[in-house]
Amino acid sequence: MSSSLSFRSFPLGTKIWQAVEEAGYARPTPIQAAAIPLILQGRDLIGIAQTGTGKTAAFTLPILAKLCPEGNIPARSGTRALILSPTRELAAQIEQNARTYGKHLPLRIASVHGGVRERPQVAALRSGVDLVVACPGRLLDLLEQQHGNLARLEFLVFDEADRMLDMGFLPSIRQIMRWVSRKRQTLLFSATCSPEIETLARDFLSAPQIVRIGRRADPAQAVVQSVYEVAREQKAELLCRLLQAEELRSVLVFSRTKHGADRIGRVLERAGIPTATMHADRSQGQRTRALEAFKAGAVRVLVATDIAARGIDVDGISHVINYDFPATPEDYVHRIGRTGRAEATGDAISFVAREELGALRALERLLGRTIERKQIAGFAPEGCSGGSSAGGQQSPASPEHRPAGRSRASRADRRGRYRSGGRGSSRHEPRSFRPA
Ligand code: AMP
Repeated sequence: MSSSLSFRSFPLGTKIWQAVEEAGYARPTPIQAAAIPLILQGRDLIGIAQTGTGKTAAFTLPILAKLCPEGNIPARSGTRALILSPTRELAAQIEQNARTYGKHLPLRIASVHGGVRERPQVAALRSGVDLVVACPGRLLDLLEQQHGNLARLEFLVFDEADRMLDMGFLPSIRQIMRWVSRKRQTLLFSATCSPEIETLARDFLSAPQIVRIGRRADPAQAVVQSVYEVAREQKAELLCRLLQAEELRSVLVFSRTKHGADRIGRVLERAGIPTATMHADRSQGQRTRALEAFKAGAVRVLVATDIAARGIDVDGISHVINYDFPATPEDYVHRIGRTGRAEATGDAISFVAREELGALRALERLLGRTIERKQIAGFAPEGCSGGSSAGGQQSPASPEHRPAGRSRASRADRRGRYRSGGRGSSRHEPRSFRPA
């Protein structure tokens, strides 16, 4: 891909060019360069790409351009574009991006998801907004109550389709499709391509083009990973101890359960560490406020469950801490991918209790290497007396064991640590690409 390619190479119209420039985007990312022309040509498309590659603009920009040719909008006639998203957070992010890219266009945009009152969403659907970003569950509820009209839909996007299937949305999606016009352009984005995704594509897309883009940065390349083997009952104390280090500027802590997340939040607040928590039992307002506070730096720590953290795109997360070790290697990779975004590097620290050692070993088998072990005096796995037994234990102040500090060895070891399984390969991605 030529580095001279600019957004003005695509016939998106002056109003969209202007909005993109105001957003500070200098050049299209690989997925944008590959997908935008195909979508403008009217092709159905499967994009294998993760959050962080610029995929939202890849589908939103050409859709906006086609909704508003010449910057104008034809007579309104119900919803013309629908973007389906697995989580409220992702839906809110897509809506925000669509508003940014469409700010000079006379378009009406709304989102439809659970966790907030139905009434404004009903009003938006009934008034015929042009573009709707929706989670399948709430959208289906409203369609079944005869709110909204998808009979003239021109564009349908499945975003993070693999996560929608993981979260059990397939039956709702199939129901929603009964309301949707057959004469439409359909785009499907997914981080992975499984037989289930292929079935979804076969059922709802027509002769799709496939664009495959590697993730922004392989987490193994950009993220320094370490493990503390620690007794379960010492985890909270270890977390507080690590957070004494200022270099843990912006920390995403993963808890396996909602109660666990609340408990960690309370412990940190008691220790005087400003913390926000995010999980499915929190209202949408609470989740949005938590994310905003974290993004703005008003709180240094965000404690989240895997589901609540899906689709979170916060640049500048310095550390991910697996307070509970994730059940699957996929969750591990997804979690640590929250840091080390863009050109930044990051640290991923896992607390591993005895009963979690099996999951750690399974991950290490998959990675083909062991993850660096760290220790702090006073903290030890069950069965050891903390602070004195293990050889090589040092005080937390010693440079080699400064919490989460990057050793020379860990930096040097970063390259080639991890078999990516072809994830990074891309027909379209120039090797030189570094997202802005
Ligand atoms: P996404 O993969 O859609 O979640 O996008 C990830 C981040 O990249 C978002 O913060 C976007 O605002 C940003 N982004 C998208 N396209 C570009 C671009 N061409 N240049 C710079 N940043 C971009």
